[in-house]
Amino acid sequence: MVLERGEVANSWRHERWESLRLLTPNWQSRLPGYQYEGPDPDGYMTIAEVIGFISGFAITCGAPVRTHTTVTSVRPIDAGYHVATTNGDFQCRTVVLASGACNRPSVPAVRDAVPSSISCVTPFEYRSPDSLPEGGVLVVGASATGVQLADEIQRSGRKVTLSVGEHVRLPRMYRGKDVLWWMETSGVWNQRYDELDDVSRARGLPSPQLVGTPERTSLDLNTLSALGVGLVGRLASIRDGEALFSGGLRNQFALADLKMNRLLDTFDEWGRTERRDPDVGPSERFEPTRAPQSSTLKLSLRTGEIRSILWATGFRPDYSWLDVPVVDHKGALRHDGGVVDAPGLYVLGLPVLRRRKSSFICGAEDDAREVIEHLAAYLANTKAHQTGVSTVSRRSLSQGPALS
Ligand SMILES: Cc1cc2nc3c(=O)[nH]c(=O)nc-3n(C[C@H](O)[C@H](O)[C@H](O)COP(=O)(O)OP(=O)(O)OC[C@H]3O[C@@H](n4cnc5c(N)ncnc54)[C@H](O)[C@@H]3O)c2cc1C
Repeated sequence: MVLERGEVANSWRHERWESLRLLTPNWQSRLPGYQYEGPDPDGYMTIAEVIGFISGFAITCGAPVRTHTTVTSVRPIDAGYHVATTNGDFQCRTVVLASGACNRPSVPAVRDAVPSSISCVTPFEYRSPDSLPEGGVLVVGASATGVQLADEIQRSGRKVTLSVGEHVRLPRMYRGKDVLWWMETSGVWNQRYDELDDVSRARGLPSPQLVGTPERTSLDLNTLSALGVGLVGRLASIRDGEALFSGGLRNQFALADLKMNRLLDTFDEWGRTERRDPDVGPSERFEPTRAPQSSTLKLSLRTGEIRSILWATGFRPDYSWLDVPVVDHKGALRHDGGVVDAPGLYVLGLPVLRRRKSSFICGAEDDAREVIEHLAAYLANTKAHQTGVSTVSRRSLSQGPALS
């Protein structure tokens, strides 16, 4: 049984801005036994296409989805879990948490010091530039969401200032191929969580500065500054109506350029040793990120120059309904590759859950297979010990609800 609080593909229907396209190419849109088969494998899906793709998968695999059923509590009982919903209660032996990694915008505490004259918006509320008040916009965060929205808002005629912290720079195309082709075929995206030196660090990495456009263009900080976007450092604090930025912009740029070049070296090395592809062009390197001539360390939020702040500072999962003690003090679920620290409880869809690609649509393929293998073994092993459990139906004994 799959319990969904809204409709299939709910997050894509209600939690994304209008112009968003996937940053993963169509050929990479794959779910178990299901893939993109349209005429443009190298293109990037619009929101409507993503909704169509996921809804098509739900129909094709006959997923037993109960829509408009919000899970309000999951708590352990002797025979497994008691699941309370707005549409009845269930008991089951196993639960897969597939409720997403991005249920809430993650906004830093400094937001509380923003003067009331400034409108604060998160990517969940933002739909298009028209949804912002007239005037200048401070976009905080320069990962995928921040650079995409800074680009769109600046092009709409509003003046954008972009606050840049740690970021991951990637070109859209490398040696004539989509950079995600390189990530996938070179094996980088398939690196397993238990083979990484520092999995916590990998799980906390910002999303790459990428956008999916028909022109397959890169969207880096050089592109944005050429458009007129003002680049400032990380937002450190807001005091007496002034936003104060860190002065380490040049270092942030150098670090991101260095890491990008290291990754491109990895691709080059792989290309030399593993693959002879006639379509792959010669090695490339890109212009280093240009630092602004003078660094802006503070910006008044009282002069009217900035009228809104867009918090592109990431997303976080919401486990407020999970009455199982498996969430640490930072709000992260304790799990080992999707096997949660409570018998019969599993999770899918979190960053680097089992592989670097885990939190992308195509990441579900391998992760789900391995997590479900564990779940099936768990059911088989525990079934023998659990005789006479009269409250658990045969259906839920074998399937267990997944929240998705
Ligand atoms: C802005 C943005 C852009 C992205 N771009 C890409 C991209 O280009 N390519 C890519 O591969 N991935 C992209 N992703 C990641 C992509 O969203 C995830 O890979 C994918 O959504 C994971 O699917 P999921 O089912 O795990 O989570 P979700 O899509 O978040 O689905 C979780 C579902 O659980 C439901 N739910 C949550 N809580 C409850 C509850 N208590 N009761 C009942 N139901 C509940 C929600 O309504 C939702 O439908 C992007 C993510 C974001 C936020």
